[in-house]
Amino acid sequence: MSKAKLNSRIGLIQPSMTIGISAKAKELKANGVNVINFSAGEPDFDTPDNIKMAAIKSLAEGFTKYTAAGGINELRDAVAKKEKVKNNLEYKRENVCISVGAKHALFNIAAVMLEPPDEVIIISPYWVTYEAIVSYVGATPIIVDTKQENGFVPTVDDVEAKITENTKMIWINNPTNPTGATYTQQQLEDIAQLAQKHDLWIVSDEIYEDIVFDGYKPVSIATLSDYAYERTLVVNGVSKTYSMTGWRIGYTCGDKDIIAAMIKLQSQSTSNPTCISQTAALEALEGPQDSVEKMRLEFEKRRDYIVGALNGMEGISCYKPKGAFYVFPNISSFFGKSYEGKKIENSMDFCTLLLEHAHVATVPGIAFGDDRFMRVSFATSLEDIEEGMARLKAFIEKIQ
Ligand code: PMP
Ligand code: GLU
Repeated sequence: MSKAKLNSRIGLIQPSMTIGISAKAKELKANGVNVINFSAGEPDFDTPDNIKMAAIKSLAEGFTKYTAAGGINELRDAVAKKEKVKNNLEYKRENVCISVGAKHALFNIAAVMLEPPDEVIIISPYWVTYEAIVSYVGATPIIVDTKQENGFVPTVDDVEAKITENTKMIWINNPTNPTGATYTQQQLEDIAQLAQKHDLWIVSDEIYEDIVFDGYKPVSIATLSDYAYERTLVVNGVSKTYSMTGWRIGYTCGDKDIIAAMIKLQSQSTSNPTCISQTAALEALEGPQDSVEKMRLEFEKRRDYIVGALNGMEGISCYKPKGAFYVFPNISSFFGKSYEGKKIENSMDFCTLLLEHAHVATVPGIAFGDDRFMRVSFATSLEDIEEGMARLKAFIEKIQ
């Protein structure tokens, strides 16, 4: 029996369910089970060759040592340039911190900005990690629910109703994981105005900005007023756009004092993001961009197929997302029924039975704050999607 006495904060969070289920699906596959894996939040494409070659070259040239804690100057400058060209946001090197993935960027923001009794507004359904990070640093996540019929975007009144004297920040994710929800410029303007009225900081997680459909063009909330520019921390990274999840490079742009604090924390925790990953990320941002559009087009094709297939199934209703690579179908009509004598009470029961009996891995909506749904990632081949949808259809037909 272990004598380990952990601190009280680690008990406040659960392991990441997206990572847990993904690992389980990969393990089943490795053991010969023919699993269709809809749980992964990572593109199935290989990292483009030009990016891999840039990393190999820098390794061969001996670029293998510690770098500056906040990232190499070339990459910080490339991020600033990219934000100017793409989003018309004006940043200098001192406004940019490179981290070990966008997840690490978000963690560092929370670590340097939040403490009890701070409250952070999080829009539900939300990516699993938001709530965990905020809780871990001792702040309180305040959840604002949304509705499928409103495209999973909150009304300003719903957000304002949750603001108290302790509210310090609002976290926005556009396009959104897990729903694929996208915000109009007007909706973002309304949130920016609300933030100004209540003196809030804004975290804008823009990691899915390039995975967008039907001509949707996201604007960064940071561009929408002087206040929003000064008080928004833009978080992004190369994981999704360039299919580089394992390389672990993300970044934050914003207020230079906050950036300096994040770099100070990194200097005492992770030191620097991996040197060769930084070279790879530099090539991703500055090299040819044609692979981005190729992947986007493929995602759009898959989205069209999967939404059609899901909405064609009795008992399922699915919002058609304009961004990211997830769909979030409502499966609550099956609650209270049974599959082969086993009762389905919630999203966890549904997804567990689906994995065990049909070998289709999905993530229960409860992980994202809404138990009526499940998340299906379409970052997998069209062939697998067709097979997975056929299995899901056969599975639900046996539910009574
Ligand atoms: N934000 C969102 C909304 C995500 O889905 C992810 C995916 N893991 C991240 C941030 C973090 O990505 P990464 O740490 O790989 O840069
Ligand atoms: N963001 C991805 C997901 O939601 C990757 C896994 C994770 O970091 O949570 O599945």
